[in-house]
Amino acid sequence: MSQEIPTIQIIDASKYVGQTVKIGAWLRQKRGSGKISFLQLRDGTAFFQAVVVKADVSEQLFERSKGLKQETSMYVTGEIHEDTRSSFGFEMAVSDIEIIGESHDYPITPKEHGTDFLFDERHLYLRHLKPFATLKIRNTLVAASYEFFNQEGFTKLDAPFLTGSAAEGTTDLFETDYFGESAFLAQTGQLYAEAGAMAFGKVFTFGPAFRAEKSKTRRHLTEFWMIEPEMAFTHQEESLVVQEHYIAFLIEKVLEKNDQELDILERDKDLLRSYTQLPYPRVSYDDAIKLLQDNDFDVEWGVDFGSPEETFLANHFAKPIFIINYPKAIKAFYMKRHPTRDDIVISADLLAPEGYGEIIGGSEREDNYDLLKARIEEQKLDMAEYEWYLDLRRYGSVPHSGFGLGLERMVTFVTGEEHIREAIPFPRMINRLRP
Ligand code: ATP
Ligand code: MG
Repeated sequence: MSQEIPTIQIIDASKYVGQTVKIGAWLRQKRGSGKISFLQLRDGTAFFQAVVVKADVSEQLFERSKGLKQETSMYVTGEIHEDTRSSFGFEMAVSDIEIIGESHDYPITPKEHGTDFLFDERHLYLRHLKPFATLKIRNTLVAASYEFFNQEGFTKLDAPFLTGSAAEGTTDLFETDYFGESAFLAQTGQLYAEAGAMAFGKVFTFGPAFRAEKSKTRRHLTEFWMIEPEMAFTHQEESLVVQEHYIAFLIEKVLEKNDQELDILERDKDLLRSYTQLPYPRVSYDDAIKLLQDNDFDVEWGVDFGSPEETFLANHFAKPIFIINYPKAIKAFYMKRHPTRDDIVISADLLAPEGYGEIIGGSEREDNYDLLKARIEEQKLDMAEYEWYLDLRRYGSVPHSGFGLGLERMVTFVTGEEHIREAIPFPRMINRLRP
């Protein structure tokens, strides 16, 4: 009786050396001669080579292998061998090919293509090496975020995406008609997370954030994903400890799970590992300004940092760094007043080294009813929209802190991608709404 041939995934090839297996795959590329064809295959788990040797197969099968076009889907059957020349380490000696879906004139050929073209073809570009590796790492970061916050006793709280009020003012908001009234796509879930923290102690939200960012930078999307933890009975110093442990945990998980992907992206793993060394430096905004001035930056106390300043600061310490206690005037209304200085708030941004910029923004929240109300008035926000939020200070207010991590910023930092559009499957930017 003949044994059934197992259908496996490429990633598991190492377990089947010397055995005949079947794999459902797509053809990435092909090269060869009159005597041999090398098929570069992918199946969504990994990439490897299948070899068709004319002398070992029927004339018909060899001709079929030579006629395969880029992105044809098929079942390939053959024996797994070690392949010391490839980084993957295994290949297949093909004994059969069953074509499933033909492919003709696939637009993304092995030659160089421009970025605009590749993103016009993003639905196909996802299949290629770099997007595959980057988005696999994104997936690890998402799973690891749930793992981290679950193990730390947080409850996942889903904040709404359609809101009636503008959390941080109306600039950069997408407005839409909601049965005759205005609704806004959420810029942040934070205010709702605060309500959640008063109910569940420690919560995190994870969802898309929408910002009509009019500046074209390599760090801004108009739709991005944010993880926003919020913790009751927690001061800022304790929140910073959670933040750095979270970042180190994410990096460790990627090092553990995405070796193949980090190789594809040529990311320096030792450098990444160095970022898991805690603690991260805490640098006051005041000191950051002095440091910048001493290094010939033209900055005055009170300005927000741009990309060159952020890059310089984090590179100076060769690690992610917290810049703490920013000027009140450049931060959101809900950030807690400093106990001894009226011009700063208890806030922190985490800046990544190597030019990846701000990956976290956070603060202790103003927990005093009168002071919070005064801040809402000062910023000329519509008080009626914040009555529910003020309730959180009316009924058993407690010190609480939280932060927001931009998932795509973290993806670019971990993967070493230059531009944030690579970090999300279908980027939305000022000049891109399709596909
Ligand atoms: P930036 O100054 O870089 O615009 P921000 O101060 O507006 O950032 P926050 O409002 O604190 O950012 O948002 C929390 C986090 O969300 C940021 O630290 C960043 O990681 C991410 N983030 C903010 N805006 C964007 C965007 N347009 N695209 C992608 N990620 C973003
Ligand atoms: Mg911004």
